[in-house]
Amino acid sequence: MSAENILSISGSTPDPVPLIDLVEQYDSIRDEVRAAVDQVFESQKFVLGDEVSDFESEIAQYCDARHAIGCASGTDALILALMALDIGPGDEVITSPFTFFATASSIQRIGAKPVFVDIDPATFNLDPAAVEAAVTDRTKAIMPVHLFGRCAEMEPLWRTAVRNGLAIVEDAAQAIGATYRGRHAGVLGTLACFSFFPTKNLGGAGDGGMIVTDDADLAARLRRLRVHGDAGRYQHLEVGLNSRLDALQAAVLRVKLRHLDAWTTARRANAARYKDLLGQAGLTESMHLPHDSTEGRHVFNQYCPRIPGGTRDTVLSGLHERQIGAAIYYPQPLHLQPCFAELGHKPGEFPEAERASAEVLALPIYAELGEARQCRVVQALADSVADAGRRSWTIPFDTPRRRAA
Ligand SMILES: *Cc1c(COP(=O)(O)O)cnc(C)c1O
Repeated sequence: MSAENILSISGSTPDPVPLIDLVEQYDSIRDEVRAAVDQVFESQKFVLGDEVSDFESEIAQYCDARHAIGCASGTDALILALMALDIGPGDEVITSPFTFFATASSIQRIGAKPVFVDIDPATFNLDPAAVEAAVTDRTKAIMPVHLFGRCAEMEPLWRTAVRNGLAIVEDAAQAIGATYRGRHAGVLGTLACFSFFPTKNLGGAGDGGMIVTDDADLAARLRRLRVHGDAGRYQHLEVGLNSRLDALQAAVLRVKLRHLDAWTTARRANAARYKDLLGQAGLTESMHLPHDSTEGRHVFNQYCPRIPGGTRDTVLSGLHERQIGAAIYYPQPLHLQPCFAELGHKPGEFPEAERASAEVLALPIYAELGEARQCRVVQALADSVADAGRRSWTIPFDTPRRRAA
């Protein structure tokens, strides 16, 4: 089928398609959310309390973990997890340069050194062989990221961790509900960190985070660390943070958790439909589609095909001109961020992470998206790719970013 015919599949509309639309989701759960929020106001208990501990139990149960500890954000979850493991100055933590900033900033924030290694281009996740090669006698932990909602390749990481006595801190911020060989993200390491930032698959009405673990001692320490290290009765065993989950967030998130699996199913159906539609539009030759996981459930927090050949930025502009919400996650790999200049990395050092940054393009994938809007996205993408192909004869083939690298 030609790109022109895709539009006629389901009579799509010319309305803009946003990258994510939370209004539709709210429309479907408004009454439940309002009732839950009202209850918190009636109780006038706003920080921690029963609402939070009930939500913690539900998350622990959802992930099949023993303990869950709520905190103020996904970033704080990572910082608290590293603190609970006694990681600090002089220690190294191996992680990915192709991820959201907070993965590596949490390591730097507690005074340890982020040690970047390259990614596997097929999955965007840590390359296990590169991790193994980066272990030194200062390495304390590996921090795999389940990027875009697909679990990292854990088994070789487990072997490296066991052989070298390392902890594993999962950055599962994008991966609630994802599985790897029958186990949930959250129970694939020593500790796992979730974010409830509104755009995550389970998103609150503001910031929120959670740490999940099977280790009772780490859990007890995390419960102290999030309240200034207070063991109760103002006995401060150590200096912690003020990083608690609000009861209002927990109340909203408890409502949403009940819908999470249905939303995940819808995201996965959208990903499958993109594969069909992009194939029908003849676009699978000009771009590489995200692979579903063969090891478990990919939850598609983002759907990021790659557009090779230096035309990604032109295609992105074409989508924006056609009112399609698309974005780049992530335009700059972390080893090249100014704040990590002291680590001394150079362009070209992690070629797969750099290539991913130059090629990825996130398309709308939210649960309520639906076939008509997906057809519009694919039509706009086909038109933008065609335009970019024509323009690439008249402008230099390399984008400025690639030349700078
Ligand atoms: C969102 C995110 C975080 C940080 O979570 P916040 O709740 O925004 O602090 C960390 N790592 C990854 C991979 C993320 O996507």
